[in-house]
Amino acid sequence: MCGIVGYVGRAEAGPILLDGLRRLEYRGYDSAGVAIVDGDHVETRKCAGRIAGLSKLMAEDPAAGTYGISHTRWATHGKPTDQNAHPHFDESGKLALVHNGVIENYAQIRETLLQESEHHFKSETDTEVLAHLVGKIYDDSAKGVTDPRRHKALLVEALRSALQQVIGTYGIAMVHADIPDFIVGARRGSPLVLGVGKDENFLASDVSAIVAYTRDAVYLNDFDLVAVERDKFEISSLAGERGNHSISKVEFTAEDIKKGDYPHYMLKEIFEQPGSVCDAMRGRLSLEECTAKLGGLNMTPAQLRDVGRIVLTGCGTALHAGMVGEYLIEQLAQVPTEVEYASEFRHRNTPMTRDTLVFAISQSGETADTLGALRESQRKGYRTLGVCNNVASTIARESDGGVYMHAGPEIGVAATKSFTSQVVILTLIGLLLGRMRHLSTAEGTCIIEALEALPEKIEQLLKTSDQIKAVAQKYVDATGMLFFGRQLNFPIALEAALKLKEITYLYAEGHPSAELKHGVIALVKPELPSVFIVPDDAVFSKNLNNIEQVRARKGPIIAVTTESGAAKLKGIADDLILVPDADDAVMPVLTVIPLQLFAYHLAVALGRDVDKPRNLAKSVTVE
Ligand code: GLU
Repeated sequence: MCGIVGYVGRAEAGPILLDGLRRLEYRGYDSAGVAIVDGDHVETRKCAGRIAGLSKLMAEDPAAGTYGISHTRWATHGKPTDQNAHPHFDESGKLALVHNGVIENYAQIRETLLQESEHHFKSETDTEVLAHLVGKIYDDSAKGVTDPRRHKALLVEALRSALQQVIGTYGIAMVHADIPDFIVGARRGSPLVLGVGKDENFLASDVSAIVAYTRDAVYLNDFDLVAVERDKFEISSLAGERGNHSISKVEFTAEDIKKGDYPHYMLKEIFEQPGSVCDAMRGRLSLEECTAKLGGLNMTPAQLRDVGRIVLTGCGTALHAGMVGEYLIEQLAQVPTEVEYASEFRHRNTPMTRDTLVFAISQSGETADTLGALRESQRKGYRTLGVCNNVASTIARESDGGVYMHAGPEIGVAATKSFTSQVVILTLIGLLLGRMRHLSTAEGTCIIEALEALPEKIEQLLKTSDQIKAVAQKYVDATGMLFFGRQLNFPIALEAALKLKEITYLYAEGHPSAELKHGVIALVKPELPSVFIVPDDAVFSKNLNNIEQVRARKGPIIAVTTESGAAKLKGIADDLILVPDADDAVMPVLTVIPLQLFAYHLAVALGRDVDKPRNLAKSVTVE
């Protein structure tokens, strides 16, 4: 959450900072701001609301200068107002700072600062307190120092010393009016990457902000500080040790993060699924051995055979993918598997056996709660693997191994293609573990064939987008929606409800179909449609009972089903959404896609801001 961009070079900083912020807007859009050093003072423009507002401000009153910092906010402390928008300044007004994260002990620091000297805080944010602290330490240490070269080192030292007092998380970028062509950054818990250019360098929360300028990146680690100039940078640790980081090539290009002809990133990403699903399994299937090959797990066959229990941990959509994974892994490999909310798992003492393998699932690889869960399980000595999309993200780097999704950048706040990639990867894990245990070659082949047939079936499905749109438009007056499914399609009910909530703001719940009669049925009424995910599988007739129960109470029914299921539902369901037939194991990938489209079309019909839904942001780096 929250996006930071910093620039130091020879070009005008303003347009580069604004362009970078636009690419990070998915991370937060409560307010936006820039600080650019113009000669001996810092020019700042900031306002509540979207980056478009800041752009307007900058167009009316441009800020000149070749180095500066910028920020798009997802508020944690203080309302989304102009005043609380970053950058924030120190008492002298010369130091400007942007921050992603939370300073947990900001109230204490504020008290101490006020006791020691005069401070005038202008915002309600935790960030401004940090700016004052760094500024005070710097001013005290720079007093009487005339050598300008010393000022750079003193500013870095001031940040180091301030951060040593901080409890919390941060990605930071900072400039000082007295120190030309110099930005300082730091990270702990929030991502920060350095972009290395020719006679110019960048800082950003995510490489997508700077990939149009450079594809050479240095991914900073927690507790790194970085001093950035036009032609050099120096990384050191919070403890003051010199860092030794290598430069990596960014996997994607600026072209990959364009919306193209699609009206929304979400729709583009839904339509990318034939390719992203294919990329999730590319080179990872062996028909000869009827199994999956996942070298990134960094585990020998003997170690994989010794796995006695699996914990899948994640948040939101990733958690739902984990729930599909739980059913699949248990079914294919008979390894006891549990799904844990990362935010809960990390704070409770779940009994674990030594042979437990933990998976941290996160598209961004930066989700704070999932990262917390990963670190907690590693602290206790469990092997922890990542399932991430962002290469070189913190989870990917800190885990003992893992599987990359290779889904390409996902920018729409509502996750779509990352979900199907996660499900495919968990299927591969189930297949691999299963084939090392009791799963026969015939069963293995069956799964592989079903997986390989997916991209074409998804293509087929996507062609029905307009039909799904027509169904969605019929329900614009619905007050909410209930989603039901059994077995592997139960997590799809949860995920479909989440998608609907996220982008339409309608009330929605997902449940196992059979739970209906244990309480949820009390909600059923004509204004509250029920969506049943009911391929014609072994539990179809059970689902049919539940559908009848809703129908008897005048609840409208939308059924997501296969052709043979549709024949049985004629005259029973009000609306049908068809999916191609497939093996049960891969069916969740096919049933979720029409429901992503359903949520999308309904949100558009309701006039919602699909890519930037209310109160949400992508890559949740706060707890
Ligand atoms: N805690 C800071 C604020 O509320 C930064 C939040 C963020 O990461 O967006 O302004």
